[in-house]
Formats: sequence, C-alpha cells, structure tokens
Amino acid sequence: MQLDVAATIKLAVIKLTYEQTISGAVSHFFAISLIAVWFSGIAPISHVGIWVGAIWFISFLRIVLYRCYKKHLVESTAEVWMHAWTALFFALGMVYAIGFVYFTPVDSPEYLISISLFVVALTAAGIIGYAASIYATLSFIVPLTSITVTFLLWNKSSASMVAALTIIIFTLTALSLLKNSNRAYKRSISLNFENKAEIEKRKEIEQQLQNMSRQDSLTGLFNRRYFDEALKLKIEEAKLNNSSLCLIMFDIDYFKEYNDKYGHVMGDNCLIEVAKQVRMVTSRKDDIVVRYGGEEFAIILPNVELDAAMLMAQSLQKVVNEANIEHADTKLDSLNHLTISIGIASLDSCNESNAIQLIESADNALYKAKRHGRNCVQTN
Ligand code: GH3
Ligand code: MG
Ligand code: MG
Repeated sequence: MQLDVAATIKLAVIKLTYEQTISGAVSHFFAISLIAVWFSGIAPISHVGIWVGAIWFISFLRIVLYRCYKKHLVESTAEVWMHAWTALFFALGMVYAIGFVYFTPVDSPEYLISISLFVVALTAAGIIGYAASIYATLSFIVPLTSITVTFLLWNKSSASMVAALTIIIFTLTALSLLKNSNRAYKRSISLNFENKAEIEKRKEIEQQLQNMSRQDSLTGLFNRRYFDEALKLKIEEAKLNNSSLCLIMFDIDYFKEYNDKYGHVMGDNCLIEVAKQVRMVTSRKDDIVVRYGGEEFAIILPNVELDAAMLMAQSLQKVVNEANIEHADTKLDSLNHLTISIGIASLDSCNESNAIQLIESADNALYKAKRHGRNCVQTN
C-alpha cells in the first residue's frame, strides 16, 4: 500500500510537470523576446538572435518531447520521461544564464541590476509553475542562479553585489516556499489516492455483501430472497416485451429417507452435487437457478417457451439419473439412485400472470409429478 502511494505520487508529479509544457514554452518564447529587446541596444543583433533562437529551439524541443510523452507514456518508463524533461529544463536555465553573463556590460549598473530582476522573475515563474516537482524546479533554477550569481560576485562592483544579494535572498526565500507548496501538492495527491483506494475497497465489500445476501451458502446457487425479487422483475420484463417465461421447480425424491440412511452431512453433499448438475444443464446467463428451500430448487427461464423448458427439464432429469448418486432407500421400484421430480409452469398458461400464480402453477405441476410416481416431468 505504501509503495503504491509512492509510485502514484511519482507518476502524478510527472504528469503535472509535463502538463505545464505548452504554457511554459509559450511564456519563455515571449520572455526571451522581451529580454532580447533590452539587450539589443548594447549587443550585436546576430549574437542576441542566436541566444533567442537557442531558447526558442529548447522550448520547441520541450513541446516535441511533450507530444511524444502523451503518445508513449508507460508507467515503467515514467522515470526516463522525467529525466528527459529535466535535461531540457536544465539546458534552458543554462542558456539564459550564459546569455546574461555574455551580454551584460560589467560597468553598467542598470544592466547588472536588470539581470538580477530577470533572474528573480524567471525563478519565481519556475517555482510557481513546477512546485509539484522540486527536482524539475531545481534543474532550471540552479544553473540560472548559480552562473549569474557567480558572474555578479566576480564583478565586485557595488551594483553587482546588490544584484547578487537580490538573487540570493529571493531564491532562498522562494525555495523555502517551494518546499511547503511541494509538500502540500504531494499530500493532496496521496489523499486523493487514499480516497480512491478506500472507495474501491468499499465497493468491493458492498459487492461481496450483495452477493452474500443473494446466495445460498450451501450450494452457491441464488437463494429464496433473490428468487422472489428476480421472478417479479422477470415477469414484468416479459410482459413489457411480450416475451415468454417459464418456471421450473423440482424436488429430490425421498430425500428424508436419504438423510435417514446416509446422514445429514451426506445429505448436504448430495444437495451440492445436485446444484452442480443443474448448473451443467442451464448454460444461458439469463437462467436464474435457485435453491428454493430444503431439497427443493427452482429455475427461472426468461425468453423460453414451454416446449424448450420441457426439453431442458427432461435433460436435467436425465443428468441427475446418469449421475447415479446412490440412494439405496428410495422407494422407486427397481432403482437405487437419486432422482428428482420436476414441475413446469409457463407465464402464458397462468391466467393471473403474477409471481404467486406462477409459483403455485409450477408447484402444482411438481406435485402432479410426485403423484405420477416421481422421477418425471409434468406441466399443468
Ligand atoms: P418426496 O419424494 O415426497 O419429496 O419426499 P421427501 O422425503 O424428499 O420429502 P420430505 O419433505 O418428507 O423430506 C424432505 C427432507 O429434506 C427432510 C429434511 O431432513 C431434508 N432436508 C431439508 N433441507 C435439508 C438440508 O439443508 N440438508 C439436508 N441434509 N437435508 C435437508
Ligand atoms: Mg423431496
Ligand atoms: Mg420437499
């Protein structure tokens, strides 16, 4: 969990940093153009032009890198993208600083002071724009300030000392602010991540609880509670779509005798086995297989006509017979394995057409099957 938070923060920081690329590149495009106007009065135009061109070129490369990142970002390579971005940002800081040092006349207080103001403005912009990553911010600020300050201190005039001090004090103050806002950024990213994880966990628990409330714990089939809800819903749907629906109810024959002979635990295993057989026969995902209660089961068959339900019931009966689950005390002549009796009702055949009527009709058919000697399928 801890590791996940760290990885998520890292990825979010990289994304936040890259997202600033276009606005960053555009502002450097304009910033260097304005600074160039200031220097064009004292330096050869071609030299200033090369400097401006270099800044534009790096800004352009940053946009190209951003486009590639958008297409190819994979979590495993996130680190590489961050290094590539930082390398270009470092180059930008270097080129600015080299230009300031190269163009500023050492005997001109106004130019000495002006470069300190340019550096302060660029530093402020870097810190505001990239507070999510200290690494990214420093990659720009360190070359920019260190080269400019070294140049100013080297110069030793009072104007250059004031300029150097301005940069140093401002940069140190800004860096302490950067530390705080960076911490706040990371805290909000991690809170966001923790909230998401918490919501996911809750959803999972809700799903588990919902499954548990719908499931029969012994057989894993749906339970009676779910059956009641689902049958009403499926009947409404069938009426709305004018489609067919059948209900199969079946009951294990002479199960009391089975329990008496083999014991309750074997009886339970037998119910689990029968549930498996039903699953084998009902392959459609729309079929709702339920343990209705005790050793009685039900299958809701939406969009199924009576003929098809009859075929399905017959194959269910066959599968159970063929499973050959030993039942020595069954009272059915010449049989010594487990059997089931099945009743079927179709929505069309019920005048009232509601859930209670359909259940009653299927239940009557089931008892008809019992009366007809069991191990058979009946309809009303
Ligand atoms: P019929 O052929 O008429 O259905 O006879 P039957 O013996 O199956 O029916 P009866 O209703 O007389 O008995 C059902 C038995 O099912 C009684 C009860 O002990 C058993 N039974 C119900 N629920 C469970 C269960 O969860 N586990 C086990 N092992 N037995 C159960
Ligand atoms: Mg029974
Ligand atoms: Mg019964």
